Amino acid sequence: MDVSSYIAGQWVAPDDTARPIVSAVTSDVVAQIGCQSLNSQSLLNYAKNQGGPALRELTFHQRASRLKALATKLLEYKEALTMLSFHTGSTRADSKIDIDGGIGTAFVFASKAKRELPDAHVLCDGDVEQLSRNGSFVGQHIYTPKPGVSLQINAYNFPVWGMLEKLAPSLLAGVPVIVKPATVTSYVAYACFKIMVESEIFPPGSMQFIAGSTGNLLDQLDFQDTVSFTGSAATAKLLQSNPLILANGVNFSAEQDSLNASVLGIDVRAGSEDFDILVAEVVREMSAKAGQKCTAIRRIIAPEQVVPDVIDAVSAKLRDIKVGDPTLSDTDMGALVSLEQRADVQQKLQALSSECATVVGHGALNVGDTFEVSGADSAKGAFMPPTLLHCANPTDASLVHSMEAFGPVATVMPYSSVLEACTLLNKGGGSLVASVITSDANVAQNIVAHSAAFHGRLYFNNMQSAKEATGHGSPLPHMTHGGPGRAGGGEELGGVRAVKHYMQRTSVQASPDLLTGITGIYVPGATKTKTDTHPFRKTFHDLQIGETISAGPRVISLEDIEHFAHFTGDTFYAHMDADAAKANPFFPDRVAHGYLLLSFAAGLFVDPDPGPVLANTGLNSLSFQKPVLSGDSLLVSLTVKRKTRRNDEYGEVRWHVELENQDGDQVASYELHTMNAYQ
Ligand code: NAP
Repeated sequence: MDVSSYIAGQWVAPDDTARPIVSAVTSDVVAQIGCQSLNSQSLLNYAKNQGGPALRELTFHQRASRLKALATKLLEYKEALTMLSFHTGSTRADSKIDIDGGIGTAFVFASKAKRELPDAHVLCDGDVEQLSRNGSFVGQHIYTPKPGVSLQINAYNFPVWGMLEKLAPSLLAGVPVIVKPATVTSYVAYACFKIMVESEIFPPGSMQFIAGSTGNLLDQLDFQDTVSFTGSAATAKLLQSNPLILANGVNFSAEQDSLNASVLGIDVRAGSEDFDILVAEVVREMSAKAGQKCTAIRRIIAPEQVVPDVIDAVSAKLRDIKVGDPTLSDTDMGALVSLEQRADVQQKLQALSSECATVVGHGALNVGDTFEVSGADSAKGAFMPPTLLHCANPTDASLVHSMEAFGPVATVMPYSSVLEACTLLNKGGGSLVASVITSDANVAQNIVAHSAAFHGRLYFNNMQSAKEATGHGSPLPHMTHGGPGRAGGGEELGGVRAVKHYMQRTSVQASPDLLTGITGIYVPGATKTKTDTHPFRKTFHDLQIGETISAGPRVISLEDIEHFAHFTGDTFYAHMDADAAKANPFFPDRVAHGYLLLSFAAGLFVDPDPGPVLANTGLNSLSFQKPVLSGDSLLVSLTVKRKTRRNDEYGEVRWHVELENQDGDQVASYELHTMNAYQ
């Protein structure tokens, strides 16, 4: 297979400088990659002049619909991508993490964007800030897409997931993507990318692909561009310290390697259910992707009296792991990605032997060494057995906390107190994830207090959560992925947070009318438009932001309050007993129930006949600001605040509702949600 670049709408095939990429399993050539000329200027021009503007024409929801269509298209090619991935050493189960996981991540982003982002071009961050006494000058933080590119440099281990988890939020943000996959598994990323481009679901220029070197591309970027890097700490440092990246203020996010750990709680006894959970998590993390997961457990930190049991239990399971041809259904663990990668792991094992004893595995293997693998030639493929080490004195050790052997390797080490466990955890210098298996909330709370700041994610598991827990090593699109220090300091995923990563936050200060115009959301204090037709008789399409109706007054009587109290059963003293109400610092006398006011308000503004309003789906931000006494009058205003189209049939309307008394004082306000027929 030729792994071509895709630049300015053209496929650029490998030239005579191309290099072969060989199978992790057989060492046969499976692809070739490389081309001398990378025209970085035309790459950037195409993204910035065509892709960016076309993407930014679309609303968040339109981009989300396209992302969903893209993910749906990729589903058709899951099997083809899986077949290709066997060459990378991945078993079918490994490919599920990469391919199904990547497509699933795109689906989650599309659906979260539909639910949590507006059907608009501007994203508001937080509430409107009152900046003046009378509300004629207000503030709002907004996000808008950066008019640059997002250059995504990916690691080799997840060619599909690694590409889609960054591509999805960037496209949702409206920022075109340039993908640079790791060479050794680039043919899988390329096959997936080709499907996406040829689907023509996103506008031309939305996505481009660099097969091979990035040339001088990084030197051309500026502060509107983002580099999202995933890979080793050494490469991150090299790229991040590029003088032009620094001078031009390029936003550089790094997801690096990490010495992730799993702690067995001091409360857990050998042989208990919680103990078995730790063993299962460790074995899964060591064998999935042959340990080539950035989140894999590298250090197992166990109470000193339980360490021998942990070693016995993990060793027994590791010895049962069948290493072999990843295409065979009974293979538990395939090959590492290349012989070079295996040599790197072996070299690190050699170094770690100064601090650790090998409990299971072959210690250091050399190229050409053979051992039992099923269905494949162990001398040709990058196979290695899972290897468990034991470090008896982790407090004085350093390599075991700092050297990542990126393969099926983990080390068991003892601790004697929760504080010591935290000290060992933190010796990793910042990690992507730490897991803790405990059923003791004090242990969990102590670990959070002493260690949370050292990790991007803390994963607690025990027998209560085990059935549904998502696994130590699985980054989820809903939760942030990344970690401080050694892990790179970057942050990916985390739902809408990831979309914001590609956008600029700007604080806008203006009058309510201007702010309403900018955001498309009615801001209290902005000019309202009185309507002749009741808004409940208007379709979603016809309703205008700021359109309003006023209703009332309705006088509240003591009988109303008593009737409501006995009807609902809410006979709280403030509504029923004048002396008790007066003794309360908030009430001058018996007061009307807040819910009575809401009910009366609905009675005032509702237009009862069947029409475009399909359902009342909720309310937000309800506040009661002033007590309402018997004899007071209630007036209500209902204003169209924002509209979010859900599909061709209906959309959600959010209404700003204000309740006032006869003196014009606001007594309550809230945001009402209805679902309205589209046309
Ligand atoms: P790597 O060698 O650092 O390469 C990462 C990426 O950088 C590849 O696409 C590579 O392309 C590219 N690259 C290397 N030198 C470059 C240069 N001078 N200019 C532009 N691009 C350059 O890492 P890897 O071996 O692919 O991945 C394994 C490492 O990644 C492990 O340490 C693992 O812990 C880490 N990782 C971290 C995460 C995370 O989320 N934190 C996820 C996965 C993996 P070429 O392949 O063409 O050199």
